Amino acid sequence: MQKKVLIVEDETDLVKLLKYNLEKEGFKVSYATDGTVALAEVRRDPPDLVILDLMLPGLDGLEICRQLRRNDRFARTPILMLSARSEEADRVVGLEIGADDYVTKPFSTREVIARVRALLRRNEPAVPQRFKVQRGDLVIDPTAHSVSVSGRGVELSALEFRLLHYMASHPGMVFSRDQLLDSVWGNDRTVTPRSVDVYIRRIREKIESKPQQPAYVQTIHGVGYRFATNGEES
Ligand code: CA
Repeated sequence: MQKKVLIVEDETDLVKLLKYNLEKEGFKVSYATDGTVALAEVRRDPPDLVILDLMLPGLDGLEICRQLRRNDRFARTPILMLSARSEEADRVVGLEIGADDYVTKPFSTREVIARVRALLRRNEPAVPQRFKVQRGDLVIDPTAHSVSVSGRGVELSALEFRLLHYMASHPGMVFSRDQLLDSVWGNDRTVTPRSVDVYIRRIREKIESKPQQPAYVQTIHGVGYRFATNGEES
């Protein structure tokens, strides 16, 4: 499927150059030359990746980055920062608050496209999510992106779904928090191992009849978590 790239940059010559070259490489490209417009554009038509200049009129690149990372929906959207050499301090802050990579101006478009491709690859889910998992009363259907318990639909966020499906696709296998972060969150630097606990708790509250004594998502003390093997859950 064609990947959508949003360019946020106020230098229109650079926008044209990037847009032309990215489109030639098969990307669908939109752009914003102002920070406030950029945020509106992200919400209107969520991109697969954002190329984000640091110095912008309206909101600057750091603020845009911060706002995207705070929003569950865009927390994982890869962000490639563009910065001038003189903006090194801002670049460091950018990486700290969740940008994934940066390119220093002046850059070659070939370099930018290589980084864009690498970031999109890194962001792909680790497991092809097409196998339906059925365990006791629980059904996880990745094609429909749905989960049900005893035939009743359960609402999971995209990340909760990915985490549950990933573990359920490897029943009996014990995962450390770090392994789950690597496999499920991938390149997202905004989460810590403790975030995994938070997500596991939310999933249990949604799918387990007794979240305190989970039948499906089990804690292995001192190690991490595992999904019950067939027959264990009853
Ligand atoms: Ca600029």
